[in-house]
Amino acid sequence: MKNLFSVEFASELDDKNPLKSFRDKFYYPEHNLSPILYFSGNSLGLQPKTVQSLLLEQSQIWAKNGAKGYFSDWVNFHKQLTADFLPIVGAKDGEIMLMNALTVNLHLLLISFYQPTNQRHKIIIEEDAFPSDQYAIASQLKLHGYDPKTSLIKLKPQPHEKCLKTDDIINTIEAHGESVATVMLGGVNYYTGQKYNMREIARISNEVGAYVGFDLAHAAGNVELNLHGWNVDFAAWCNYKYLNSGPGAPSGIFIHNKHSEWNGPRLAGWWGNSMDSRFSMDSKFDPIKGAEGWSISNSSIFSMAPIKASLDIYNQIGMDNFIIGSRELTGYLEELIHLILPEIEIITPKSPEERGCQLSMIIQNGKEVQKYLEFNNVVCDWREPDVIRIAPNPLYNTYSEIYQLVSLLKNYDNL
Ligand SMILES: *Cc1c(COP(=O)(O)O)cnc(C)c1O
Repeated sequence: MKNLFSVEFASELDDKNPLKSFRDKFYYPEHNLSPILYFSGNSLGLQPKTVQSLLLEQSQIWAKNGAKGYFSDWVNFHKQLTADFLPIVGAKDGEIMLMNALTVNLHLLLISFYQPTNQRHKIIIEEDAFPSDQYAIASQLKLHGYDPKTSLIKLKPQPHEKCLKTDDIINTIEAHGESVATVMLGGVNYYTGQKYNMREIARISNEVGAYVGFDLAHAAGNVELNLHGWNVDFAAWCNYKYLNSGPGAPSGIFIHNKHSEWNGPRLAGWWGNSMDSRFSMDSKFDPIKGAEGWSISNSSIFSMAPIKASLDIYNQIGMDNFIIGSRELTGYLEELIHLILPEIEIITPKSPEERGCQLSMIIQNGKEVQKYLEFNNVVCDWREPDVIRIAPNPLYNTYSEIYQLVSLLKNYDNL
């Protein structure tokens, strides 16, 4: 038997890794000239090396062309990007737009996809949804005059469990049935790393007549998605986590083509108006069909340019290969922890179908362990009340780094 927990074994895995050449396409952060172990791609993805030239290119277009740049390059700048997102989230032409930031987009989408009536006014979310999502949803309920106490349904895990069971989610949606206006969950929960069964959740939500949407902050560019095929109404994600497009990069939205001729509520702006009449400055809003009709303001080109760098890398790899590489890498981390550090509890589901890159771990004295890791140049994060999140990214993390991480944890005295 080979010793899985050895420098040699880890570097053998690195040598055989079909994705190994991709690490070189990123700037890898350092601390005092020593390499760090970066496991926080779920918070902020690393910078692709082509980002700076893409930014320079846009600043040169601006310098040379001034306002003419709009028509030479910028009015349709998003189109080359939205096309590359189709395989990443499983969408069709016309279903994607890039704009604003994630929480802003959740608000804009809820203006359309939360249309409460006295019979149908509830929103279903996860109990431990990302706080920004919870604030957004509670404030949307209040905006419409509903009380979160009666109209907000929070999915809770079974006692002594950390993750939700698909059956429990389905049963809750079914039980609230015709009183549910909107179901909005994370695709992958930021805290537990659990990937929900979006296909089943969308199916049952459609069945009870509710709109269904997903916050894909931790899912886009991390796990397999088929938003169109699953009949999801809407989704939004940020591009700075797995998608490596820089802090505050514009967010992506998905709106199913069945809504492409939307006549319902929407907050409108000129960038959502058809190109034919956008610059004739009419007072009547003539929306573009599909997701672009939800855009409001002209695009932030400098924030958007880095997205291309990351999408080029995803294009070269393909989502399928990314997922194979991810499962192997995260699987190695899980295996070593079980083998070497059985006292650590991994709360992320075991099945690769129910998670992405990230493993969330409960470690005794977790906060101190986190400080110790930080002191030893590991970048990972601590989330109250008790979890350390490690997200090995197959685009730039190595098996050797995972070996080093587990060695550090093994050498910590008070585990
Ligand atoms: C990261 C994250 C956000 C952040 O929202 P911004 O509006 O981009 O600042 C929101 N929701 C979830 C689930 C996240 O993971």
